[in-house]
Amino acid sequence: MAIRALSTSTCSNCKQEFELYSRQTDFYICPQCIQVYTKQDLNLKFSAKYIRKPDTMSHLQIGTEGNIDGRAFKVIGCLVLIFEEKFIQLWRVVDSDKQMDWIIQFPGYFLEARFTEINHNDYKDLELKLALSGHNLPGLNISYTLNCITRYKYAYALGEVNMIMEENDKGLLYLFQSHKGQQFLLFVNSADSMTAINAQHRELSEFGLSKTKELGLWSI
Ligand SMILES: [Zn+2]
Repeated sequence: MAIRALSTSTCSNCKQEFELYSRQTDFYICPQCIQVYTKQDLNLKFSAKYIRKPDTMSHLQIGTEGNIDGRAFKVIGCLVLIFEEKFIQLWRVVDSDKQMDWIIQFPGYFLEARFTEINHNDYKDLELKLALSGHNLPGLNISYTLNCITRYKYAYALGEVNMIMEENDKGLLYLFQSHKGQQFLLFVNSADSMTAINAQHRELSEFGLSKTKELGLWSI
């Protein structure tokens, strides 16, 4: 089934036309000029100094279309997080049912990912709980073991996203692995909010990429 846009609009700053695909989108960042739009049409603007140009190109771009396990998808947005000298890209994806997914691109591998509801109380004093439990994650049916903890910094967002960052927003990523090869990612940011994501490994070839449209993503 074709993935149809919900609406079309024009960037008031650079006059580039753009399409919106998801009702869960809270922000749209014009990939051409980095103008930020909120649902209330408040116009904020990131200054260019917050934007860091990544070192390499990705096969995935905003506008890329593909097919995971027979399900067509389109990339509609991107969040970039920086770890030390590396960065990861969280590609926001929509399918024909307007279900949301993410493809998370780490240096050298990909995860297909989904947001997960968690009980925040289970994750209070997480370091202490992990120390006591032999690094097993509390509150989930599957047994996960802590793989690593990494500090990250938000770099930028483009296209349709549902969270947005301030300059120097930082956080900790807890990366857990199950014996079944599933991953559980817990992003804890400096404002004490948490985002939990369930994910599994994917090879690039499994995304069945059929169409890539570049929107000047790396030319800023
Ligand atoms: Zn624009």
